[in-house]
Amino acid sequence: MSPRNRPEENGWIEVITGCMFSGKTEELLRRVRRAELAGHEVKLFKPAVDDRYGETEIGSHNGNQRTAEVVESAEELDSEAYVVGVDEANFFDEQLVDKVQSLAERGHRVIVSGIDSTFRGEPFPPLPQLMAQAEFVDKLNAVCVKCGEPATRNQRLVDGEPAHIDDPTVVVGADEKYEARCRSCFKIRTD
Ligand code: ADP
Ligand code: MG
Ligand code: ZN
Repeated sequence: MSPRNRPEENGWIEVITGCMFSGKTEELLRRVRRAELAGHEVKLFKPAVDDRYGETEIGSHNGNQRTAEVVESAEELDSEAYVVGVDEANFFDEQLVDKVQSLAERGHRVIVSGIDSTFRGEPFPPLPQLMAQAEFVDKLNAVCVKCGEPATRNQRLVDGEPAHIDDPTVVVGADEKYEARCRSCFKIRTD
């Protein structure tokens, strides 16, 4: 997807989105590796809320890891590095959009990775807003764990049962589980 025919001095935004397990982090780390091969300096950020792979690691479910700076809010996203990467971007608030826009306007290549829909299957700010402003958007699929079709949904399970529609959107560290599922295998409780 590498941008062609671009003025050298321009910055831009790349969004890597899709459901959990779709390979967003894997793809972010792939782009970072290639940017470094090209001699570009890279700075990675992730939000403090996600502590799945330790304080300063960005981790892919495929085992790849990279050190990142953990920040409390989008306000802290700033760097002199030409390439700025942000993982788990769905845990930032809508301030992220302006912050990323201003980095791109200052000439940075900004790569943002995060899920675009909630466990209810609805748009999950700020990724949809960012997708509307990005130069490049890649929406990845996982494999549906029920039927093997392309998965686009985050199935939240609480004690093995589909979560209720009224549950909070973000729950960190609760006793729950997520699965990648397709449109027809995705279930939500409304009773
Ligand atoms: P994301 O950042 O989108 O959550 P990761 O980059 O962390 O995804 O992980 C992608 C990897 O997850 C895949 O390469 C694969 O090894 C693994 N994986 C586990 N479950 C699934 C699934 N249901 N569909 C696709 N990949 C899966
Ligand atoms: Mg990830
Ligand atoms: Zn399915």
